[in-house]
Amino acid sequence: MTTTVRAFPAIRPGFKLVPAVIGTPATGQQIVYIECPNWCTEDHVNEWQHSVDDVSHWGDYYGAGIPSLTAEGPVLELSARLFADPTSQDVRLREAHVLVEGLAGADAHLTPTMAEQTADDLIKLAAKLRTAARSARLARNGDSDPDMDGALRRVREGQSA
Ligand SMILES: [Zn+2]
Repeated sequence: MTTTVRAFPAIRPGFKLVPAVIGTPATGQQIVYIECPNWCTEDHVNEWQHSVDDVSHWGDYYGAGIPSLTAEGPVLELSARLFADPTSQDVRLREAHVLVEGLAGADAHLTPTMAEQTADDLIKLAAKLRTAARSARLARNGDSDPDMDGALRRVREGQSA
């Protein structure tokens, strides 16, 4: 008895071989195996594409919505996730990078360095947001000076110092 051994296709480090559905339900679909980065969480079977060239890779989605007391639902939204479009005309989009999306559909593609700088800016913005919230809360309570002495504030609020 002879056993035929076939070499398994070489997969680059950091990638896995996954099934992907290619084609449309109307014209016919087939399952092919594609190289997919380990960080990709996209289900390439459920999210079928017209052709292999249309396959992009997506990491987990992280989003934040900003509500308004004058509107229903969030009026601003930001999301970020890993992304790569291996057949993009723009070679910069072929490698793994961070995609930041907003409600308006303006996509921002960030290199790792750009993403780190943006994260630092958003951390500063979050700290300012907390400071503004504290000032607004104090102003609503009739205290416009956020640096007022705590004992004086408690007296004004009718509590003992
Ligand atoms: Zn993928």
